Amino acid sequence: MAIKITDECINCGACEPECPNNAIYEGAVDWKASDGTSLQGTITMPSGLTVDADSAQEPVSDDVYFIVTDKCTECKGFHEEPQCAAVCPVDCCVPDEDHVESEEALLSKKAFLHGE
Ligand code: SF4
Ligand code: SF4
Repeated sequence: MAIKITDECINCGACEPECPNNAIYEGAVDWKASDGTSLQGTITMPSGLTVDADSAQEPVSDDVYFIVTDKCTECKGFHEEPQCAAVCPVDCCVPDEDHVESEEALLSKKAFLHGE
């Protein structure tokens, strides 16, 4: 499943540079599908959201760091464990029970994001 950040986040920023998919953003910052991926042009994300890869999307949270579910692969294909959860000092990067995905689906998402 994807990982989410809870409102326990203390905005330390440690997780953001660790994400291999650039799925983590600071609160109130617009996100883009193309950030840290090979996505370009009009694309349909795994959730069904169709966007221009370079267009700015609304922040998921205005107050704390957030994870774009469509870009989180739980680090599958890159690392043995979610890197955000590994570095978070307050353990607020947790499994998102609303977005449960199989390992196969996560690897397929990784391939989608990086054009493999
Ligand atoms: S689990 Fe991995 S891919 Fe998902 S947000 Fe955390 S660092 Fe990024
Ligand atoms: S490492 Fe944890 S506390 Fe720090 S910004 Fe990321 S989610 Fe928030």
